[in-house]
Amino acid sequence: MSRLVVVSNRVGDPRKPAAGGLAVAVGESLASGAGGLWFGWSGQISEEAAPGEGELHMQHAGRSTLATVDLSRPDHDSYYLGYSNQALWPAFHYRLDLADFERSQFEGYKRVNRMFAAKLSALLRPDDVIWVHDYHLIPLAAELRMLGCTQRIGFFLHIPLPPPTILAAIPGHEGLMRWFFAYDLVGLQTQLDLEHFVRFIRDEARARPMGGDRYQAYERTLCARSFPIGIDVEEFQHLARSREAIETYTTLKEEYAKRRLLVGVDRLDYSKGLPHRFRAFRELLANYPENRMSATLIQIASPTRESVHAYYGELDWMPVRYIHRTWSRRRLEGLYRNAKVALVTPLRDGMNLVAKEFIAVQDAEDPGVLVLSRFAGAAEQLREALLVNPYDTETTAQLIQRALRMPLEERRERHAALYERVRRDDVHAWRRAFLAALSSEQAADAEQEVAEGHA
Ligand code: ADP
Repeated sequence: MSRLVVVSNRVGDPRKPAAGGLAVAVGESLASGAGGLWFGWSGQISEEAAPGEGELHMQHAGRSTLATVDLSRPDHDSYYLGYSNQALWPAFHYRLDLADFERSQFEGYKRVNRMFAAKLSALLRPDDVIWVHDYHLIPLAAELRMLGCTQRIGFFLHIPLPPPTILAAIPGHEGLMRWFFAYDLVGLQTQLDLEHFVRFIRDEARARPMGGDRYQAYERTLCARSFPIGIDVEEFQHLARSREAIETYTTLKEEYAKRRLLVGVDRLDYSKGLPHRFRAFRELLANYPENRMSATLIQIASPTRESVHAYYGELDWMPVRYIHRTWSRRRLEGLYRNAKVALVTPLRDGMNLVAKEFIAVQDAEDPGVLVLSRFAGAAEQLREALLVNPYDTETTAQLIQRALRMPLEERRERHAALYERVRRDDVHAWRRAFLAALSSEQAADAEQEVAEGHA
């Protein structure tokens, strides 16, 4: 039985319940069967280490092993803050205008991936299956291959993949494409991302379709598919029984008894479209006066440097409560359950898990309504939400009004359909589908070898 090796920029402790999405997703696999190894950055920055150097820490957590590496200050700044978050993040979210493709940051990005590959390859066993996560680590498989690694390697991109014309603006995009071909399986969030990827490799790398989802270029074959990520529905529902969730729920219920509560929950990032959301909310209040003195939007935003002003405030009615910090998942749960409407209106999002969390905890007898951006990956699955174009604030305001006035029967029907999908396509289904595809690729290769042997 092969061991699973997970590589991601940050490593969580799968034993801790609040470890977050990826930890929940991969924790189970790491702890089962042959056990597993989770490799990534320790989160520590070393002021003494030189670029390309970093101390390796090994820690055992049940049947899994956590291997983490510190980053030197210049590596952290160029690989993480620089190329990953100032070049790839904006470009992949369709924001070339915000992207900074500075050469030295690109060098740092490659240097850290090379260093990770060197440290990781020393820990690998011949029958390991390796699963690499996200845009920080695109070159990792190519670096591992250069060190002689022949194990199966899969890659999953958690953020969107833009159309080829945007990708082609990234300096050195030819190299980026070559890096993808060092993987056996490339997973994207949505069908749309997958279409972009396939067009990109066909047009720019002249990749040849090999049937099914397989493409050949640079003397390698990869399989490309979409695997929409989900949430751990049961774990999230379980939070509802915690004291903190109940307290939050009860307090908000009393406070907003005579009002209509709308919620937004986001990391504060330009991709989340908060200014557009507030504009749409302002139009709701301006165009549908019945909401004045009654509708309140609670926006929870994990901090960054941006700031947004509240408006329309009156003494006993503050229409936007802007809470500039991270809330515990338990409190979020209590908030979601009180809301009549969730506003999930990013300008661009790989998936958006907040939309799924909101659906998961609604009371099926009296559920709230999800207003969802058509530009969130989740919109491909969650068709029964009210889908909006967040740039069109007037129509968004109309649809928010429709959500607030939606009859009970329609709310129930929409929620039932959405819930069904959120439940079925949960995070465990996602992980199983990806790992099954990665190992069936192994089977496909073996078949090909046998066929070639007979020929
Ligand atoms: P992203 O990965 O871009 O931040 P997602 O919506 O996919 O967006 O995932 C965000 C996760 O972080 C969700 O599980 C959500 O509950 C959590 N989260 C987002 N904003 C906050 C916040 N302000 N406080 C606490 N948790 C948050």
